[in-house]
Amino acid sequence: MKNVHDVIVIGLGVMGASTLWRAAQKCTKVLGIDAAGPTHCYGSSHGESRIFRRAYWEGEQYLPLLNHADFLWHELAQSTDKKILFHTGGIFIGPKSSSIVDGSIKTANRGGIDHEVLTSSNIRGFLPAFNVHDGMHAVYEPGAYAISARDSRLEMMNEAVRHGARIEFGDNVVCLENHEAGVRATTKRGCTHYAKSVIVTTGPWMTNNLMKELTEHLEPRQVPIYWFSPKAKSERYFLKENFPVFLYEFENGDILYGVPSISSSEPGVKIGFHNRQQTPANADWKNTPIQQKHITEISEAITSIFPKLESLPTHVKSCFYTMSTDESFLIGKSKTLKKAYFASACSGHGYKFAPAIGDALANMAVGQKPCFSLSAFSVDRFNST
Ligand SMILES: Cc1cc2nc3c(=O)[nH]c(=O)nc-3n(C[C@H](O)[C@H](O)[C@H](O)COP(=O)(O)OP(=O)(O)OC[C@H]3O[C@@H](n4cnc5c(N)ncnc54)[C@H](O)[C@@H]3O)c2cc1C
Repeated sequence: MKNVHDVIVIGLGVMGASTLWRAAQKCTKVLGIDAAGPTHCYGSSHGESRIFRRAYWEGEQYLPLLNHADFLWHELAQSTDKKILFHTGGIFIGPKSSSIVDGSIKTANRGGIDHEVLTSSNIRGFLPAFNVHDGMHAVYEPGAYAISARDSRLEMMNEAVRHGARIEFGDNVVCLENHEAGVRATTKRGCTHYAKSVIVTTGPWMTNNLMKELTEHLEPRQVPIYWFSPKAKSERYFLKENFPVFLYEFENGDILYGVPSISSSEPGVKIGFHNRQQTPANADWKNTPIQQKHITEISEAITSIFPKLESLPTHVKSCFYTMSTDESFLIGKSKTLKKAYFASACSGHGYKFAPAIGDALANMAVGQKPCFSLSAFSVDRFNST
């Protein structure tokens, strides 16, 4: 059979872009297909910045991926002239026994990650931008950083093309079938592609048609994200040199996260709720308006914690979280398609892992073992409980 690809990657958000980059280094005939263009504002990977941290309150099972991802982010950063990593440090604030403080300390200790534990008065002295409530604690991780989301994803695709990959934008894969070559992929424009293996990384669209076996474990949700300007004479407190990426857990468990502006095109400090304001929605090619009650809610949080920021956002946008039932990732091999692999690595915290997940998927697709165990992310965990 002519024209059989070694690997086809379907969906080039950050997971697909990183998979394409890693696959192009391992085999010769690699094709990436994305329904949209090289930069677009749908799904989960768009926007300016994402947080990378290793003192991972979510659990030590993420450490092997975090370590490998950290290594590969720096490899990518070295291969490009563009600045894609911004070493800001990270501060994770909450009550002493909160998930964020307690969990970050545990993972930092377990992983030998450089960190410092601070009290509320330490924090106020160290970071005057924060109005930290009395009794709060924090974990400061000096090695945490912000990633340029748009540029890092584009650089992954550039690297993939440099290593020989081909990319088709503006076409949807609508059907995947087992075939003697491996898998047959049919697109909306009527193209048929054959591959020894396919990798599906279609983000919130994962629940549509290609990976129906995952549908019961995933729910796309729309989430708003906001940008806030410093008040007059307070600009210096929020410069990326003075303001780390942060997580802030309130007494009631609500979590706020934020990133300083890392590019001149960004309209202020980016802040959002991690575990609130999520609206179940079908993945779609349009942006929906942000609800006024959500703007009011975040403005109240900003007034309380960042009195040196204007309380009303200068800019708002909506984005997609693809939530799994346990807020972790689904990575593995299809049970219905013999040579198909997938990753749904969102639940609102997947970006930082993309190079490691892409590397693991590319290895699996060419019959090699991933560099670390993926058993914690297997769909089988839902069947065994
Ligand atoms: C507001 C927000 C803030 C976040 N902050 C952080 C953070 O600070 N740190 C962190 O680690 N993570 C963060 N995340 C999570 C992270 O952004 C996601 O984990 C990641 O972007 C998921 O990428 P993806 O490639 O799986 O999905 P997507 O980016 O949605 O990519 C899916 C791609 O598939 C394409 N596609 C869909 N269907 C088809 C089809 N049938 N055929 C071809 N192509 C198709 C789409 O066009 C799209 O390009 C955040 C997420 C959001 C929304």
